[in-house]
This record gives sequence, structure tokens and C-alpha cells, in this order.
Amino acid sequence: MVIGGGISGLAAAHRLAGRAAAVDLPLEVTLLEASERLGGWIRTESFAGRPVDFGPDSLLVRMPWARELAREVGMDDELVAPGEGGAFLLSRGKLRPLPAGILAGLPGGPLPFVRSGLLGPLGLLRAGLDLILPANAPAGDESIGHLIRRRLGRQTLERVIDPLLGGVHAGRCDDLSLAATAPQIAAAARADRSLLRGLRKTAPPVPAAGAPRAPVFMAPRGGMQPFAEAIIRAIRDAGVKVRTGARVDAIEPGDNATLTLRLASGGVIEADGVILAVPAATAAGLIAPHAVTAASTLGALAYASVAHTALAYDPSSLPAELPAGTGFLVPRPERRLMTACTFLDRKWPQRRAVAEEQGTGDDLAHAVVIKCSTGRIDDARFERLTDEDLVNALHRELAEILGLTAPPIASRVVRVSGGLPQYAPGHPERIAAATTEVAEALPALSLAGAAYRGASVPLCIRDGRAAADAQLIRLGLTAARDEIARS
Ligand SMILES: Cc1cc2nc3c(=O)[nH]c(=O)nc-3n(C[C@H](O)[C@H](O)[C@H](O)COP(=O)(O)OP(=O)(O)OC[C@H]3O[C@@H](n4cnc5c(N)ncnc54)[C@H](O)[C@@H]3O)c2cc1C
Repeated sequence: MVIGGGISGLAAAHRLAGRAAAVDLPLEVTLLEASERLGGWIRTESFAGRPVDFGPDSLLVRMPWARELAREVGMDDELVAPGEGGAFLLSRGKLRPLPAGILAGLPGGPLPFVRSGLLGPLGLLRAGLDLILPANAPAGDESIGHLIRRRLGRQTLERVIDPLLGGVHAGRCDDLSLAATAPQIAAAARADRSLLRGLRKTAPPVPAAGAPRAPVFMAPRGGMQPFAEAIIRAIRDAGVKVRTGARVDAIEPGDNATLTLRLASGGVIEADGVILAVPAATAAGLIAPHAVTAASTLGALAYASVAHTALAYDPSSLPAELPAGTGFLVPRPERRLMTACTFLDRKWPQRRAVAEEQGTGDDLAHAVVIKCSTGRIDDARFERLTDEDLVNALHRELAEILGLTAPPIASRVVRVSGGLPQYAPGHPERIAAATTEVAEALPALSLAGAAYRGASVPLCIRDGRAAADAQLIRLGLTAARDEIARS
């Protein structure tokens, strides 16, 4: 039984059905989703004649899990890399290109820093001190902000790292766990006394001269929803029973290590094994009667809310050209409402063609679409604005930054309430303890999803699959275990 039809639950159901089929095991898999739609935060809508993602919009393909699943559901050929040109940072009112060779959110050495113009002379000097400062790492986890301030200084943190790494989570680097949120930087910090040298040591190998650079991010050419739909088709084909509008309100231990699920509709379901792939607060409520400390750990996990606003502009209202990149990030010191801006047609140039193929293009197909993000864990100003006021405020900011001369001809605001978990320092240990407590109290239940071991889509897929494997092994399905060992 899988509870939650977001990407974690879908990946778990797909893995359960796939493993069972591979070893000819008659396993009955049901997926229960509270809402009427599957996919969780994955949400692609047609806007201005093209598919626009209002939830996740790209997959980090250096991690294998999303790509593996895409291959298994026949979507691998659909994955495309974003357009060329890189991204910009708004710095002291000006768009400046992100340093070339940026590695894991940090430039690989002092030179890209110097050339980028992102830091003032004092900031540069302070960042350079990293090369001579003695080792000063604390024992155990710390915040990303703590490490960066210590090694590279405040300017680097506020103007480069926080918009990059904090921005991904709509969080504050000063409050985000280094180990859980930026493990690649944690590894670099361990690799050398100097963080900059550590980053160079741990950077992925640079391809030989002339060799094509593998893309870091990719996305299905029609947006993320078709990916979710392909998984849903695959699990239905594999015999998984999918029930929407099926909210689980209580989980109780049953006889013979089974679990009894009580639905809001009044239904009762017995399950041999359960994967609970719902947001932390819901999981906390469901496990609270059985695992008190774990429930309070999950209940305490903060989530940030954001809004994505798509704006369609007539090309005549743009300056001669938008900057030649895929968009820009906005650091906190710029004091803007906007946290990031995507030039949609530059980032995903295939989208107009997809709309034409699908016959969903409309009379705004000629427009230029710009998508703006607002909201951070400590900035909820957008929540006090109506959609209309938000659109106006964002347009005013875009007009100042990009020189737009006329308001948008269409807009859409999508608000994401509490979508982005904030892993505070010590998160991995707290989650490990919670997982152990739950495994002891409810051995037939595994926790999976964005609250635990990484919130990105690839890491949610890994988590859902790992939870499925754990339940198959627990059920003593030897054939399945052998299959897991072989893969
Ligand atoms: C705005 C935004 C942008 C993002 N951008 C990216 C990106 O570009 N790349 C990337 O890799 N990641 C991105 N992420 C992160 C990633 O999309 C999410 O972490 C991931 O989709 C979460 O999936 P999930 O299945 O764990 O949870 P969810 O998507 O939250 O799914 C949980 C599901 O459980 C259901 N549910 C809840 N309670 C119950 C119940 N009692 N009974 C039954 N069902 C229940 C919910 O209705 C929901 O469908 C983004 C996230 C957000 C919010």
C-alpha cells in the first residue's frame, strides 16, 4: 500500500509493481491519494500557448534516479537540456553572469569570482583569505551559512551562495543543514583545509577539449507533468490500483504485523506493508499515536511557501533583446519581491513546438513568457498581495531590471503553500532517529518523501524506491530480495 500520489509515492508504487512482476510475485499494490489529482507538486499548465511548470521544472541528471525512472517509463528520449547562455545574478542593481565553471553552487577558484564582478574588493579579499586561514571546522553538522561565512565571508554568502543554494529551497543558508542540503560542499570542506581548494579537488572531471559537456539539468520537453503521467500509466498497466480522493486519516497496527488504514470516507483497508509518502505534518499526525518523538521531529519541520507567476509580454514591449541567458536569481540584499526569474522561451525553447504539435498553441503563442518566483521562508510578503497586485509589483520590478515598456498581456499566479521543506542543521541525525523509532513501532511502515533525505525530484524518486525495496525485503519476499541485490 502506498499513501500519497506525489513523485515519491508514484516512484514507490512503480518499484513495488516492477519488482513483483520481475519475480512473478502476486503482489497487490494500491496507491491512495487524498486529492483528485496525482503528481503532488508536479504541475504543468498550458499558459500563453505553451506548457509551463508551476512546480518543479528541471531534473538534476548528475543524480541517476530520475533518468532511470524516465527510461523505465519510456520518457528518456523526451528529456531535453535547457537552452544555452547560463544564468545571471542581480547584483547591486545590475545583471551579472554567474561565474563560469561554477561548481556545486560555488566557483571552483578565486579567478571566476574576480571576473564575475559579483563581489566588491573587500568581499574578494575576504574570500581569498580562505586559502590561508587555518582549518576551523566544527565537529558535526553546521549550516551552509556558517561554513561560508567562516571560510569565504559575508559578501560571498549573501551575494552568491544564498541566492543559489538558499534559493533552491526558498530558504536561508544560515538555517539550512550543510550535510543534508549541500552534501557536495560538505565533502569539499572535508577534502581540504581551504574550501576553494576542496571544491576543485572534488569537482566532477572536466570533459576533454572539444568533448560535449553533459547537461547538469534536463526536463521532459513538454514539462514535468508528462513525466508524472507516464509513471501513472506504467503503474496502472502493471496492475496498481490507483485511488484518488482517498485520504488516509489514521493508521493502526493490525493482526500479524499488518496495518489498518482508516480513510476519511469511512473505508478501512488492511495492508501487509505501507509506504507513507506524504508531507511531514501529515505523516506526523498519522504516526503520532505509535512513535511520539518521531512525530514531534516531523511536526517541527518547517516548510516555505512560494508563488510562481507567469507573465506573457508582447515582443514589442521588450527591450531589443532580453539578456542572453535563461534567467536570473535575486539575492536578498537587492530587496526585491522577486527571488528568481526565468526567461521561459530561452530556458525551454522546445515548449512552443510542443504546443503546436499538441494543437494547444493559442493567439498568445507569439508572446514572450517570463516566470517569476516570490517567497522565502522568511519573506511572505507575496501572501498579503492579491494576484493582481502581485502581477503589478513583479511587472514593476521587471520593468526596472529589464527595461520592459508595457505591462504583460496575460498572467497566471500559482501559489504553493508549504511546498519546500527546510532541513535545519542536524536534520540527517534527527531523521535517522525518527526512522529507527518508526521501524521499531510500526515495522510494516516505511517513510518516504521530500521531508527526509532530499527534496529534489531525483532524491524523492530514490527515497520512494528505497522504501519499496525495504518493504519487499521485510515481507520476506526472497525472490524480490535477490532481484534487488542483482540490480
Ligand atoms: C514550487 C516548487 C518547485 C520545485 N522545483 C524543483 C525542481 O525544479 N527540481 C526538483 O528536482 N525539485 C523541485 N522541487 C522539489 C520537488 O518537486 C518536491 O520536493 C517533490 O515533488 C515532493 O514530492 P513528494 O511526493 O515527496 O511530496 P508531494 O508532492 O507533496 O506529494 C504528497 C502527496 O500526498 C498526498 N497526501 C497528503 N496527505 C495525504 C493523506 N492523508 N492520504 C493520502 N494522500 C495524502 C498529497 O495530496 C500529495 O499528492 C520543487 C518543489 C516546489 C514546491
